Amino acid sequence: MSKIQMKTPLVEMDGDEMTRVIWQQIKDIVILPFVDLKSEYYDLGLVNRDATDDQVTIDSANRTKELGVAVKCATITPNAQRMTEYNLKNMWKSPNGTIRAMLDGTVFRSPIIVNGINPFVSCWKKPITIARHAYGDVYKNSELRVDGPAKAEIVVTYPDGRVDRKDIFDFKAPGVIQGMHNTDKSIESFARSCFTYALDIKQDLWFATKDTISKTYDHRFKDIFADVFENEFKTKFEEAGIEYFYTLIDDAVARIMRSEGGILWACKNYDGDVMSDMLASACGSLAMMTSVLVSPDGVYEYEAAHGTVTRHYYKYLKGEATSTNPMATLFAWTGALRKRGQMDELPELVDFADRLEKASIDTIEEGTITGDLKNLIDVPTKNVVNTEDFLKAIAAKL
Ligand code: NAP
Ligand code: MG
Repeated sequence: MSKIQMKTPLVEMDGDEMTRVIWQQIKDIVILPFVDLKSEYYDLGLVNRDATDDQVTIDSANRTKELGVAVKCATITPNAQRMTEYNLKNMWKSPNGTIRAMLDGTVFRSPIIVNGINPFVSCWKKPITIARHAYGDVYKNSELRVDGPAKAEIVVTYPDGRVDRKDIFDFKAPGVIQGMHNTDKSIESFARSCFTYALDIKQDLWFATKDTISKTYDHRFKDIFADVFENEFKTKFEEAGIEYFYTLIDDAVARIMRSEGGILWACKNYDGDVMSDMLASACGSLAMMTSVLVSPDGVYEYEAAHGTVTRHYYKYLKGEATSTNPMATLFAWTGALRKRGQMDELPELVDFADRLEKASIDTIEEGTITGDLKNLIDVPTKNVVNTEDFLKAIAAKL
């Protein structure tokens, strides 16, 4: 059998611990035998990030902007304990944060749907994808404790000396205040990434805020989404047969609960934080959750939603067999290969990504599973295998 050819390389960002092991297994067992893989390799493992003063992360993000598609393995975000464990020069920032900032991107997460793993919300038949705005609001706020009677105000000072002032509250006794911000530029990028991705997956886009209460702040989000839609995406949405729908956040939550899914749901930063955890738990497991970072100009970086699965890695280092679920990482690869295939007009590569996903879902539905799915899935016979045998079962189907 001749291997499927690629035109343009994808950016390959390797990572840490258990997911680094799985990364290599996925390539060896289900990709390299079938595809003549073209990738530009960047080692984002913590050892190399430390050795390169994190330059490797920046280089990989810059190259992603040029090539348009990347696939990323989970990486360690260092904390105090990792500083000692890896004898680090510096507590390097989260690579995901660095890459997201450089691509100005939005993260889209959706569950991998498998028969037998039924969402707790029984009417959800198709995946719901959540897009979380990753800048500002309560995550970049300024807070103050007010310790007695006081007058609190918002003050904005412009470079020309002009001042805008507004009362917050006349405190008669102690309390708290909070100041938040966002920027038109960031909201516009978020909106463009969401409209771009909705077109990509051909699903309706929902966006919700609390603009009835927050008449300036949240209303700005609503207006920017409406403008970007009218000026840049309306015709494309009509051609694709999909809709953009705006509503209030509480209404959106109620409707989502009654929907059959198949929706892209854009959330403000806090809403997205809360709702993505709800979605992940309602659908089973982080190991069955895919994640893609999309920039407003259509650059894609695919990854798994989970971390480096440290607990399993320590078992692996002791020589114990681990049954870590490779699905989310595998879907990062298929997502990247499919996108590369679409961009380069390689139908065979797109078809391979589809078939690899189907083979992996079929494998699970037939009962060959990793340990984490044992108590989640409802199938007649369950055959729990280690990661390597699970991937071999998928390869056999391919
Ligand atoms: P984690 O790696 O997601 O793992 C937490 C637990 O979830 C695991 O111990 C395991 O549970 C279960 N789990 C997650 N993925 C699984 C899989 N594929 N198969 C089976 N079980 C899975 O989170 P963490 O342990 O909190 O973080 C570990 C490291 O990952 C940290 O250094 C953190 O900085 C990093 N991290 C990276 C990313 C990223 O790069 N995107 C995201 C999050 C965290 P059991 O132990 O019960 O089996
Ligand atoms: Mg959270």
